[in-house]
Amino acid sequence: MSGMRPTGKLHLGNYMGALANWVKLQDQYECYFFIADWHALTTDYADPSRIKLNTLDVALDWLAAGLDPEKSTIFIQSHVPQHAELHLLFSMMTPLGWLERVPTYKEMLENLSSKDLTTYGFLGYPVLMASDILLYQANFVPVGQDQQAHVELTREVARRFNSMYKSKMLDGRPIFREPDALFTPSPKLPGTDGRKMSKSYGNTIGLTEDPKSAAKKIEGMSTNGQRPRHTDIGDPDRCPVGDLHKVFSSAEVIAETQTACRSASIGCVECKAMVAKSVSDHLHPIYERRRTLREDDVWEILYSGAEKAAKVAEPTLLLAKDVMGLALTRRDMGPFRQSAAPAVRNVKEMMGSTTISIRNLWLVKPETRDCYLKEAARENFATEERFLGEPLLTVSKKRVLVTAADPLASELRFEIPAKSYEVLVLLRLNPRDGSISDFILPQKVFSQPIATAKKSLKKDEKIPVKIREENSRFLLNIQGSELIDITDLLGNYEPLK
Ligand code: SF4
Repeated sequence: MSGMRPTGKLHLGNYMGALANWVKLQDQYECYFFIADWHALTTDYADPSRIKLNTLDVALDWLAAGLDPEKSTIFIQSHVPQHAELHLLFSMMTPLGWLERVPTYKEMLENLSSKDLTTYGFLGYPVLMASDILLYQANFVPVGQDQQAHVELTREVARRFNSMYKSKMLDGRPIFREPDALFTPSPKLPGTDGRKMSKSYGNTIGLTEDPKSAAKKIEGMSTNGQRPRHTDIGDPDRCPVGDLHKVFSSAEVIAETQTACRSASIGCVECKAMVAKSVSDHLHPIYERRRTLREDDVWEILYSGAEKAAKVAEPTLLLAKDVMGLALTRRDMGPFRQSAAPAVRNVKEMMGSTTISIRNLWLVKPETRDCYLKEAARENFATEERFLGEPLLTVSKKRVLVTAADPLASELRFEIPAKSYEVLVLLRLNPRDGSISDFILPQKVFSQPIATAKKSLKKDEKIPVKIREENSRFLLNIQGSELIDITDLLGNYEPLK
């Protein structure tokens, strides 16, 4: 997980310092990259006029440089409101002293003295950063050394939260994973005047700048006052042009220019032309790719990225809200409903498969969320399979068996393993519209007939259960028991609460 503030078109410093690494990381890790527009507001709240445009420019540059939406999740921070909500929750328990001690806080207050940064939002931006990272249970945060303090603060927030609320977890496992900083080598990249490349110094070369204009900038680049005369020898290790060679030129060109500089057998103009070519060779494909990107497609990538990110973020947020004692709302259920909807629509295609599919579909239905919330948050639904055939345990440790009728059979038949349960959930598929009906049976409905049925069962035999539909009433029959009217239990989640 990593992000970048939307500062507009990226320059080579941004590229070599972060983006080039990200492009490599996406082949090794499941990556989330976001454009931190809320972070931009912490310093630019008084004049936010460029934030939207800058956001698009950053996205275009990311894609041009090779971030691939097929491999990574790419999104805009403010499109995933879970970041803000978790930030709010964290802000309740993050001590003020921690924030005042963050080294970049004082530094930025001094450096950006033209802006009034004595705001609540600016002081709290490391908390927002913690929520950006912890929301995805990130293992690693690729950062430069100067960001280490933020990752450390994120770890402290996670530790404090975990220790405060771990008693609310059934198994006492940590709620948030403490991420590690992933330091990636970022070579020294000078700007055209020899200082660090930075927009505020006006010494940048754009990542997707026209190669001709980039070459012109390199032509006028500082040599750190070296070789005023053609015949003077120079030291490429003290020259910004030499540094640029080290980043962009081939080993042969580096060796050649270093020797030639030290023996004055090359002029600076020629040396700069060589580095301009190396830079251009490197950036040309990025420049060309950016020209072919269509804005509409980029927005589409960002919108889908946000949807994908929200699905991963939501269970973590719900877990945080749950352990902090908040009641979950209908709105909380939204993302679950959305994620389940396409699956339910596809259910007809799945009719040929086993009844287990229906059971799993039901497990992602919103209404049942409370009972499996804690597992789901950790596993992000990836391991629903683990529930197959086994009763699941609700937060209050009720044993619930969820089972489904064969969708192809003409009547609703279920087979219940002869164990003890506190709630039985019987599912049936409605082949007409692909929806799922669920009967949630409290123990008092089935305990007596199941106890009777168990007596006549052989070892490992399952209890046959049927539901019959008569005049819009649903009648339950447990191995020859009397018919029990369970119509009112259809979709009634009371027993699970
Ligand atoms: S020859 Fe190249 S490395 Fe040497 S001083 Fe001139 S520009 Fe710098």
